[in-house]
Amino acid sequence: MKTIGLIGGMSWESTLSYYKLLNEGVKARLGGLHSAKIILFSVDFAPIAQFQNEGKWEEAGEILAQAAQSLEKAGAEIILLCTNTMHKVAPQIVKNCTVPFLHIAEATASALLKNHSTHTLLLGTKFTMQERFYKDILAKHGITTYVPNQNDTDCINRIIFNELCLGIINDEAKQILLKIINTIKMNTPVIDSVILGCTEIGLLLVQNDLQLTVFDTTILHVNEALHRAISEN
Ligand code: GLU
Repeated sequence: MKTIGLIGGMSWESTLSYYKLLNEGVKARLGGLHSAKIILFSVDFAPIAQFQNEGKWEEAGEILAQAAQSLEKAGAEIILLCTNTMHKVAPQIVKNCTVPFLHIAEATASALLKNHSTHTLLLGTKFTMQERFYKDILAKHGITTYVPNQNDTDCINRIIFNELCLGIINDEAKQILLKIINTIKMNTPVIDSVILGCTEIGLLLVQNDLQLTVFDTTILHVNEALHRAISEN
């Protein structure tokens, strides 16, 4: 089994999900007392979030690139960045990485393709929904992405940073998200799936809440890591 390096803390609420899902996945595959070999580099999210808002992506990228190098030095054989948004700086991170970096949008795209989903609604932070870095990867795989309008984008972004990243999970936010998704689906019937493109949204919404097929990026990213860590020995 390979050692998995996690760049986490963005937020730590979803890093907990990674830790739990990776261990559950190893236990399910190998049984008994087996558990995941994990090295975690958990950053302080406040300065990273501030850099995001100030558009200082290179500065944020530098912190994460150094975290990746530390993980590598500590023995990580695979690296996961536990946030969709910060994949905006993935090129800066992989530049000095010699071990495989498992890109969350690539893991998501391959899951969509396996399920023959080609028209998807992407939910995430305003950066993930509005900028090209994530949608371009989906487009490269022939997937058409739809995103909410400006009002709904602001609303989802607020729920992510003011609630989910702070560990606040409430039904009101869940109902707001469900209404946004269902309204978009009604107006754009060609949409065949929804991507939970923020690693905290899965704390609020699960497949049972929706008729539309749900792709939770945290789960997909973890599954890709489990596949690489266990199957490829
Ligand atoms: N974890 C979130 C994501 O998957 C948002 C926090 C961040 O901005 O990194 O995008």
